[in-house]
Amino acid sequence: MISVLKFGGSSVASATGMSRVLDIVEKEQGKVVLISSAISGCTDAFLKGDDASIAAMETRHRDIVTRLFTGDERLALQQRVEAIFNELKQAPKDEQVTFGELLSTTILAAKLKTEGRRTAWLDSRDLVVRDDEPATFGKIKTALDTIEADIYVAPGFICRDKDGKICTLGRGGSDYTAALYAAAINADKLQIWTDVPGIMTANPKQVSAARTIPRMSYAAALDMASHGAKVLYAPTVAPAMAAGIDIEIRNTFAPDGKFTVIGAEKDPVKWIGVASEGGNIRLAGAETPSETEDVERASKALAEAGIAAKSIVARGRGLDIEVRPGVLDKALRALHRAFFQQLPVTDVNLFIAGNGAVGKALTGLIARTAETVRERTGKRLHIVGLADSTHYGIDPGGHPELKCEGDYIAAILQQAPKGALFVDVTDSETLYKRYPELLEAGIGIVSSNRRSFAVPYADYAAIRSAARENGAVLRYETTVGAALPMLESITRGTNSCDEILSIEAVVSCTLNQILGDYRPGGGSFASLVRKAQAAGLTEEDPRMDLSGKDALRKLLILAREAGAQLEEKDVCITPIVPPEHFKGSLDQFYAALEADEAELARQEHEAASQGFRRRFVAWLEKTPEGYRAGIGIRNVPPVHPAYHLRGTENAIIVRSAFHPYPLVIQGPGEGARDAASSILNDILR
Ligand code: ASP
Ligand code: MG
Repeated sequence: MISVLKFGGSSVASATGMSRVLDIVEKEQGKVVLISSAISGCTDAFLKGDDASIAAMETRHRDIVTRLFTGDERLALQQRVEAIFNELKQAPKDEQVTFGELLSTTILAAKLKTEGRRTAWLDSRDLVVRDDEPATFGKIKTALDTIEADIYVAPGFICRDKDGKICTLGRGGSDYTAALYAAAINADKLQIWTDVPGIMTANPKQVSAARTIPRMSYAAALDMASHGAKVLYAPTVAPAMAAGIDIEIRNTFAPDGKFTVIGAEKDPVKWIGVASEGGNIRLAGAETPSETEDVERASKALAEAGIAAKSIVARGRGLDIEVRPGVLDKALRALHRAFFQQLPVTDVNLFIAGNGAVGKALTGLIARTAETVRERTGKRLHIVGLADSTHYGIDPGGHPELKCEGDYIAAILQQAPKGALFVDVTDSETLYKRYPELLEAGIGIVSSNRRSFAVPYADYAAIRSAARENGAVLRYETTVGAALPMLESITRGTNSCDEILSIEAVVSCTLNQILGDYRPGGGSFASLVRKAQAAGLTEEDPRMDLSGKDALRKLLILAREAGAQLEEKDVCITPIVPPEHFKGSLDQFYAALEADEAELARQEHEAASQGFRRRFVAWLEKTPEGYRAGIGIRNVPPVHPAYHLRGTENAIIVRSAFHPYPLVIQGPGEGARDAASSILNDILR
């Protein structure tokens, strides 16, 4: 086992820093090659080369020695440091910059020796040949094979060119030195220790929300490093990649904290990070970006921050963006917000049954709202299954076509991933029988089909318990009052042990419209029913509405939500016209209704003369003997919440033990668009 650990200038900037570095090295198993930069500020000072700068550096190094060593060792090392500075002052101007790494590594190696470690100092000037990796590898390998030690300490940055002249690998070059050593000896580990927690999604000095990238590919690291990410010197990547060695970027100041591993694996995310140089921003990604969508997204993010980009171009696996240098930080923050501060996205697979008005409204709505939904909820919806009454299609790619005949549910059970949702937007009377199978397979159900929940109580209870036992979603808010949160208004109470004392629900859009429009002397009641039917306001057979059958389904659902184990037979329905009217054909029904006009007009007059309005109300009441329920016309006074309903509006009035006044919900209760939005909300909840 052999590891190469490189420490940057800020890691070795002081005696405390150096001690911290040696603590980290101490913990390594097996042999270690320790590469170090010059102490921070040193390279700049030597480049400047004036007497004052050099003198200041001499003082800092002497201070470190004084703090780290005692007695004879301190004395010996002070002499050594003095000798190196003398040599520096004699050296050619362009070689002075190479002395920083000599100083830092001399001190580190001496300290390791005094601690009793078998230490060897390696002179990188004799081992690293600039622009000649094969020669470099050979020299390093030979050195390590022939020199016996447990810890090798070597200066980063410095080397010779092919002519043997002392030189450097370029600013920040110590990282590259480390990679050369690691590749030469095929190290098991290559760690670059710096002063930030790995490579981050942005420079944390510019973007405070930047976060550590836990894993990234060599290509992505190279992209970030060669476009201004200072945390890693770009040439470091190639030798590590060729040797197949992972590069870890770690934080000396939080050794157990977050860090980055750069390796051969593919990037797990689409966008890697954002780096910058001058006014040039690089948005590094893991795949070829789209010239339209991705460019647009970046431009929108900048526009929202009031910045007009000079240019945005897709290049390689990312975007090149140019802005005025004056707005750079603001631009980086805006891009970071748009590309890296989003909620993690969860994919939700939908199998929709029903391709009528509501089904079409739903698929349209999902397509239109995809972006907003993803941003607001972190959910990405995929319609992978679709069916009408005869055909179905399933496509994991999200474009199902109605081509298959046969058992849609069986196909779903075979193919659906756990956590998928079955969305019932049909009017089927029998589909509910398949709900338990789906729920038992862990497939959730969102339904707007009220027929499924107005079934015999035992069947209803079986569906509910299948959902509960299997931890599967079961939501059907749309079944009553379309987009109005009627069921929720009841379950919120029952869940918190409030007791529902009564419910009055005005939930027949058809009858609300007709009763509201009815003015005896104007069009007959029957003509208003015909008009409603033509407008698509009624169930397919308008008698469903007028007989109270549709209201009955809604009442059963509401009552069961309130905890009443109500069956159809428990509900006393008084239809608006005598029950015999409903027995024959539809034509006979209309004829009977016309014949009733005089009586209907009389009832309307009577109510109006007393200041009442007529409403078709489904009600539930708690009595000492249990729940009672009924459906029929009520004459409501102006103080009643249902008095003011307009058009097809619905209302629910819930009285409960906790509250002296009722909860009233009123609003639009019908329409494919409302139903679709309510289903979408159930899907997203
Ligand atoms: N000391 C050199 C510099 O400051 C090399 C390095 O730190 O990587 O550029
Ligand atoms: Mg560096």
